Amino acid sequence: MTDVRFKPVPVPDAISRPYCEGANLGEFRYQRCAACGKAQFQPRSACVYCHATDLRWQKAAGGGRIASFSVIHRAPLPSFKGDTPYVLALVDLDEGIRFMCNVLNCDPATVRIGMPVRVCFETRSGSDQKIPQVEPA
Ligand SMILES: [Zn+2]
Repeated sequence: MTDVRFKPVPVPDAISRPYCEGANLGEFRYQRCAACGKAQFQPRSACVYCHATDLRWQKAAGGGRIASFSVIHRAPLPSFKGDTPYVLALVDLDEGIRFMCNVLNCDPATVRIGMPVRVCFETRSGSDQKIPQVEPA
């Protein structure tokens, strides 16, 4: 059960554990299919393009661009109240994967689609699990 005093953090399972462990080491890890060569995110047990199960973990360089975003003014949980307004974004990493995250360390009014960003890692209260986020590049 979610403890609403804290922001949510991912709970590693057998499939996502390498991703979560990588985040704690300051690495954004994603899967690349050994059969068709395509990259995918989020972690899955099979390739979303060809269904092969031979997936290899790779480390993203950390660069990307904002694909879309929304400025959040109403906190979804009490633990986010101190952050509003903040940015929730879809980010396209240079490796060809898209992920959802917050844009940290900037004024939300300055965020634009296409803006270059780089991956950074947030540590949230109540957990040792680091979370990949982005900040302006
Ligand atoms: Zn594949």
